[in-house]
This record gives sequence, C-alpha cells and structure tokens, in this order.
Amino acid sequence: MTFDTDRYRHETPGVHNRIHFNNAGAALMPLPVYMAVKDHMDLELNIGGYEAQDRARPAFERTYDAIAELINCDRSEIALVENATVAWQMAFYGLPLQEGDRILTAEAEYAANVIAFLQLKQRKGITIDFIPSDNTGQVDTDALEAMIDDRVKLISITHIPTNGGLINPAERIGKIAKKHGIPYLLDACQAVGQIPVDVEKIGCDMLSATGRKYLRGPRGTGFLYVRKGFMEKMDPPFLDMHGAEWTEIDRFEVRPDARRFENWEFNTSAVLGLGAAVDYLLEIGIEPVSRRLRILADTLRTELSAVAGVEVHDIGAEKGGLVTFRHMDKSADAVKCYLSENKVNTSVTTTSSTRFDLEKRNIDELVRSSVHYYNNENEIDRFVEILKKM
Ligand SMILES: *Cc1c(COP(=O)(O)O)cnc(C)c1O
Repeated sequence: MTFDTDRYRHETPGVHNRIHFNNAGAALMPLPVYMAVKDHMDLELNIGGYEAQDRARPAFERTYDAIAELINCDRSEIALVENATVAWQMAFYGLPLQEGDRILTAEAEYAANVIAFLQLKQRKGITIDFIPSDNTGQVDTDALEAMIDDRVKLISITHIPTNGGLINPAERIGKIAKKHGIPYLLDACQAVGQIPVDVEKIGCDMLSATGRKYLRGPRGTGFLYVRKGFMEKMDPPFLDMHGAEWTEIDRFEVRPDARRFENWEFNTSAVLGLGAAVDYLLEIGIEPVSRRLRILADTLRTELSAVAGVEVHDIGAEKGGLVTFRHMDKSADAVKCYLSENKVNTSVTTTSSTRFDLEKRNIDELVRSSVHYYNNENEIDRFVEILKKM
C-alpha cells in the first residue's frame, strides 16, 4: 500500500508557502479542518451563536466519538477543554493527594507538569521523585519498579517529551502501575496523532492531549481521557452548571461522565475543527501516518548529522518525529531566524521546558525541527541545503 503524500499535501495549502517543520508546535491544518471551523463561524455570523450550536449538535457530538475511536475508549470518558495543559491540570488537581504522598515522574517531564508538582509540594508536602532514565534515555522501567512503595500515589509521565526524539515506554509503565494499583497519568500531548495511542493497551487512568500538534486541529483545543471507574476517585478542581447540576438549594450533583471536567462555554468552531481533524486522521489511519513520519524523521536525523557544525541531540531507544539539534557556532534563535527568513519553520526549545533532562545533558537550547506525514524528502533535502549555507 502506497502512502499518498501528494494527496495530503494537496489538501494542505500551507505546504506551498513554507517548509513546515514545526509540527510539534502547531501542525498545518488540512482543508477539511479549516472548512469545518470557517463554516461554523459563518453560521454564527449569519444566524447567531446559540442557534448555530443547535444546528451543529451532531457534528459537535461526533468529536467525542472520533477521539474515543482514535484512543480506544468510550465517548463518556472524554472531556473537551481548551488545551492539553488544562486537561492535565483538571486531572492532576482532581486527585486526592495528601502530605507524604510520593509522585514518580520522568526526567524529561514537561515543565508545566513539574510546576504543578512543585506547587502541590509547597501546598501539601507531597514528594516528587524522578525515575532515572536508562542508557538510551527512556524511562528505566526496572528502576521505576524498584522505587515503588506504599507512599507512591501517582505515576505521571510524558509519553513523547517536547524536545527530542524520545518515545517513553508508556505501555510497560502501565503494566507496572496496574500491578501495584497506582494511578497513572499520561501526558500524551506529542503522541496522539503521531503514534498509535490505545488507552486500554497502555493502561493509563488519565491521559491529556492537544488538538493543534500532531492531530492537525485548530489552536485552543485539547482533551482529557479519564477511565470510567477511576473518575469516581477524583474530585474535579472546578465545577460549574455544566459539570454539575444544582439540584436543591444546598445540593448539587456531579455529571456521571468525564464532561464533569469541562466547563459550560465552548468555542464550537474549534471543537468542530478538532472533530474534523480526528476524522481526517482516522480515514488515513494512524499506523501508516506513524510509519511515514518516522521514516522522514530518521532521514532528517541522518542528513542533519552529516552537516558540519551541526549536532543532533535526540535520545531514546525508539525515536519519533521531533528532531532536535544544535549549531556549534550559532545560537538556536539565530538558526531559527535564519531558517525563517528562508521560509522554513522550526522552533527553539530551552532548558526551562524540560529542565531536569536538559540540565543533566548539559544543554541550554536546541532547535526543534519536527516533521509530519505530509512533509516530504524534497523538503528535507532543501532544509539541509539551506542550513549548510548558513
Ligand atoms: C505542548 C505540550 C504540552 C502543552 O500543550 P498545550 O495544548 O499547549 O497546553 C504538554 N505536554 C507536552 C509534552 C507538550 O509538548
């Protein structure tokens, strides 16, 4: 079976303007996503926001089904929120963590998550322990198992960190979490849409993801998955009259599904765009998407490593679509600006986004060039040529 890159490029107008290697920042939307957003905006313009929402109800509800199909869960286990950070926070701050409890996390954990751990440490006196990485750079699952004791009340891991090739062994970690009955929160922000993510196989209790990255959805979208049966052990950090019902003067009832983690007002256009993005992906299939983008990333890594003065800094036994590198003579910002002047999109990642990992590796900044399935070999060649001329 051939992968129809030309078709996907044809449906992605952005590829004609730039070499877009910033998919880990925000991927280019395909036309069906743009049209879903735009059509609904037009409807709001013409008939009113609430009235447009009524008409869009089936498509709006479809977004839950599409996500549930993609990650293999029930639609009632999905909450739609404005980004992955809010999704993650609704889960984390909803856990009954207390003084003395231990959280185990990975060395390459995302900054926002670690800040939340530190806040809870300050507020409640919980303990944060970093699971060592093995010599490939991924979470050492033997070390994880050895760290477990009665005080461990959460394993919280980033599946694919924000800066590097690394893909953490989410499934093996899930087996350990399950064996010891420890809640497992997975930040799958860079994973969903990039690699197959199946919550049953992984065995996580909570998972957060964003719309704009590898899913190719609009900005300002994200979702939270919470396992049925686990939900009841949590207390949503915020509730409104969408997440709960005011049933008597002094009583309220929390919704039975994961929408208890949502709030009332939605950017309906964006939700429809997210639904269109997931449907677009389901039609192509996550397996071929994942294979294709990994081939491209491997090619990019190989070609970049051959450029004089450039060092690729990716870790992991298994590597994904995020390729990070350093130019020996130029700052990451200078490289990014130069590339941008040449119509190439990349981004810069600094110590503050994954401090534990980058300080350990003695790296203060990296250029991140992240590819998606709609990129092609020609773009990689041109990218490397442009970089060589710097
Ligand atoms: C981008 C990112 C986030 C945050 O996603 P938002 O949608 O911007 O909130 C969380 N975790 C990881 C690993 C990320 O790369």
